[in-house]
Amino acid sequence: MLDIDKDSLVKLLKEKKPKLVLVSCPSGILVKCMAFMTSIAKEYGFKVVFLGEPCYGTCDLGEYNAHLLGADLSIHIGHSASMKKVGELTYLIEAFDDVNLIPVLEKALLKLKDYKRLGLCTIGPHIHKLDSAKNFLISNGFEVFIGDENPPLKRGQIFGCNFATCTNISSKVDAFIFIGSSRFHASGLYNCIEKPVYMLDPYTLEVLSIEKEALRIRKHQLLNFYRALDAKDLGIIIGTKEGQFKKDDAFHLYNELSQIGKNVFLIAMGEITNDKLNEFQNIEAFIETACPRISDDHFDKPLLSLDYGYKLLEQFKKY
Ligand code: SF4
Repeated sequence: MLDIDKDSLVKLLKEKKPKLVLVSCPSGILVKCMAFMTSIAKEYGFKVVFLGEPCYGTCDLGEYNAHLLGADLSIHIGHSASMKKVGELTYLIEAFDDVNLIPVLEKALLKLKDYKRLGLCTIGPHIHKLDSAKNFLISNGFEVFIGDENPPLKRGQIFGCNFATCTNISSKVDAFIFIGSSRFHASGLYNCIEKPVYMLDPYTLEVLSIEKEALRIRKHQLLNFYRALDAKDLGIIIGTKEGQFKKDDAFHLYNELSQIGKNVFLIAMGEITNDKLNEFQNIEAFIETACPRISDDHFDKPLLSLDYGYKLLEQFKKY
C-alpha cells in the first residue's frame, strides 16, 4: 500500500494558502492521488487540476503547465529527489510503499551466495526501507554498501539515467541489488557499471539477474547506431519537457552535422512516439537530446540517444 506524505503536504498548504493547485503523478498511482487530493482540496478550500500527461521522473513535472494555468502551487506526488522544490511552483511530496522487503531478500540469498560484498540501491518509494534490507543482508553474512546522497539523488536512490550513488561504491562491491520492479532501472544500472545486477521485485518476489535484458538493450542501441550511419537526412529532437531540455547540445550537433554536409532538421517535441516520428517522412534517422532511455524502445526508424548522437558525429567525421 502506498502512503502519501500528508503531513508535509498539509504544512505546505498552510504556508502557501493556494487557491488553485496543479497535481501530477506517475500513471500507476493516478487514481489514488485523485481521491487523496480531491479530499484534501475540499478540506483546505482550493481548486485542484490533475495533469493528464505521462510523467516518468523528476525531469517531467508540472511547472510549465502550472504557470500556464495560473496555479499558485504545483504538487508532484510519487517521484522523489534530494530536493523538495523544483522550479518556482513545484514541490515534491513523497509516497512511501509499505511492502515488506524481507521475503524477496530471503528468496535471493541462494542466488547471491557467490558474492561477498553487495551494493544496494532502489527507487523513491522503497528508500525508507533500505536500511532494514541492509541489516537483513548483514545478518546473513554479507558486507553491504549504500551510496551516499548525491544530488539530485538521495542516499541509495537511482534514476533511469543517473546511477551516481552506485558508481561511487562500485569498486567496493562484487554485485548490486536493485530493489524494485523496474527492469528499466536495473538494466540501465548494469549497462552503466558493468557488474552483476540482481533485480529483486518485492511484489512478485522475482529475483532476476538483469544481464540478458541489459545486453539486449545494448545490442538494440548498437544496431540503431549502425543503421543511422547510412542516413543523409537527420532529425535532431529537442525535448521540451522541463528537465529534459538540452537546446545547446541539440544546436551544437546541428551545426557540426550540417558542416559535414548532412541535411539536418531541428524538431521540438514533448512526448516522443513512433507515430510522431513517422510523420517526418523525409528523415532517415533521429537523435534525441531529451531522455537517454527513450532510444531503448522500438521505433521504425533509428532513434539515437545524445551519447550515440555524438558517436555518430565522430564516425561521420572519420569518413
Ligand atoms: S531516465 Fe529519462 S524519464 Fe527517467 S529521470 Fe532520466 S530523463 Fe527523466
